[in-house]
Amino acid sequence: MITTADESLLRRAIAIAARAVTLGDAPYGSLLAGPDGAILAEAHNTVRRDDDITAHPELKLARWAARELAPDTAARTTMYTSCQPCGMCAGGIVRSGIGRVVYALSTEQLVALNPQSGDWPTVAQDGPALFDEARVPFDTYHRPN
Ligand SMILES: [Zn+2]
Repeated sequence: MITTADESLLRRAIAIAARAVTLGDAPYGSLLAGPDGAILAEAHNTVRRDDDITAHPELKLARWAARELAPDTAARTTMYTSCQPCGMCAGGIVRSGIGRVVYALSTEQLVALNPQSGDWPTVAQDGPALFDEARVPFDTYHRPN
């Protein structure tokens, strides 16, 4: 359930997206807030500026949270983001331990606004293969001393 306090922080994420446009960057903004609503970190999309396909604000904040916050602290944070996280960012958010995400535009709404963004196809994957060979690094890594 999205509260009025959530909407206030979500408006801030939308403002970050709007500011990104004025800086020449793509219109995506996010922030991470603590349980009291205090803003811990903010980010916007810098894919073009950095020539980095991973420079989505949600992934930047997930990396920041994993690096800077204890797991129990990260679990009590909420990410507010102008658009629903893509698959790449969703994976990073899960690994970061961030407890909750609140977004404005859904992927479906984003694609309706800009058909070139948001809805990525899956890549062909072949596997599994070479189990006996591929397991060796894992067996070595996990071997008790
Ligand atoms: Zn993303």
